[in-house]
Amino acid sequence: MAYNDQNIFARILRDELPAIKVYEDDQVLAFMDIMPQADGHTLVIPKVPAETLLDLPPEAAAYTIQIVQKVAKAIETGLDVKGIVLMQLSGSSAGQTVPHVHFHLIPSSIHELGRHAAQMGDQEKIKALAEKIKAAL
Ligand code: AMP
Repeated sequence: MAYNDQNIFARILRDELPAIKVYEDDQVLAFMDIMPQADGHTLVIPKVPAETLLDLPPEAAAYTIQIVQKVAKAIETGLDVKGIVLMQLSGSSAGQTVPHVHFHLIPSSIHELGRHAAQMGDQEKIKALAEKIKAAL
């Protein structure tokens, strides 16, 4: 399917919509999930326009996973977290709701996860968690 450049994450990348950012470089952006499944739920997205993991050029995938690892380490250190669930949903059948490829970093045990994209989080609490992650980067 053709990439829709009006999706929420494309608009965040163009600064048309706000996001609580924790990391950004010329290829990747990491920001807090607005409806977290656990405290510190963070999203890492490549800047290249790709809808799913299957559409992502291998070089971009390789670079993005390096930043996924970097941010995961910062979550672990900054939030004193022991385990992180990495989730990547490709395709609406798999539950993908935003059609720009993204990696979820969810500091939690899989057994404790709440429902996906179900409830808006407390923005001030999310900002405070983002500051701790940024400080650990
Ligand atoms: P997925 O269902 O895998 O496509 O995940 C999309 C994620 O994006 C969900 O966890 C949502 O909570 C999250 N989300 C949706 N809109 C925003 C937004 N404006 N800022 C941050 N996270 C968002």
